[in-house]
Amino acid sequence: MIITDTHAHLYSEEFDDDREAMMQRAMDAGVSRFFIPAIDSTYTQAMFNLERAYPDHIYLMTGLHPTHVKANYEEELQHVENNLAERKFYAIGEIGIDLYWDKSTLEIQQKAFKHQIQLAKKYKLPIVIHCRDAFDEVFDVLESEKGEDLFGIFHCFTGTLEQAKKALSYNMKLGIGGVVTFKNGKIDQFINQIDPKHIVLETDAPYLAPVPFRGKRNESLYVVNVLEKLSDLYNMSTEELAAITTKNSEDIFNA
Ligand SMILES: [Zn+2]
Repeated sequence: MIITDTHAHLYSEEFDDDREAMMQRAMDAGVSRFFIPAIDSTYTQAMFNLERAYPDHIYLMTGLHPTHVKANYEEELQHVENNLAERKFYAIGEIGIDLYWDKSTLEIQQKAFKHQIQLAKKYKLPIVIHCRDAFDEVFDVLESEKGEDLFGIFHCFTGTLEQAKKALSYNMKLGIGGVVTFKNGKIDQFINQIDPKHIVLETDAPYLAPVPFRGKRNESLYVVNVLEKLSDLYNMSTEELAAITTKNSEDIFNA
């Protein structure tokens, strides 16, 4: 069984003390493909180090996270462009809009999101969207950029069935993580109405650990808990759902 964690910040300092053991635990359980979203330029070196340690398993993205869109965002976007010109990345992410932490930067978040979508189109890459308290704003940008060349993942999808269908209409897959195991996470109520060909698995490690680890540090091994929960909801074996979601990840990332 090959399980794919499509979203994990495994370069985070949270793993500095036990990264090797953490990676081994995941791989022993069949989690052997890790897609690594960027945050900003300060993490780039740590991402390259992670890739060097696990070259057959780690797939890097580049991008500027919406909560890190600040006064210096133009320099940060230039860093993303330089990265893309220099070497291979598998997606532009995570990018999007976050109005939970800071509403005052909405305008520059919109600009940065749109600009990075255009970069993704130029390099024929998927986008990985971060959306928090900002569905309308994210959909507005996607509407203005929609087309065959726009595709990717709605990471940590936590919306309604209607919003899920809308995301799919823009060629997005739904990234399903720990929230599906939460008692009041809501998406467990309707996710089985979405064809599993539209979903991928993720942890968002070190954040958003699934039950029974909720509130603790998350790690890629726990994507198995997400897989098990989804297998129940879809009434499908974990083997079958792992195969479908890994295939979906291969299609999106072309890797
Ligand atoms: Zn993330």
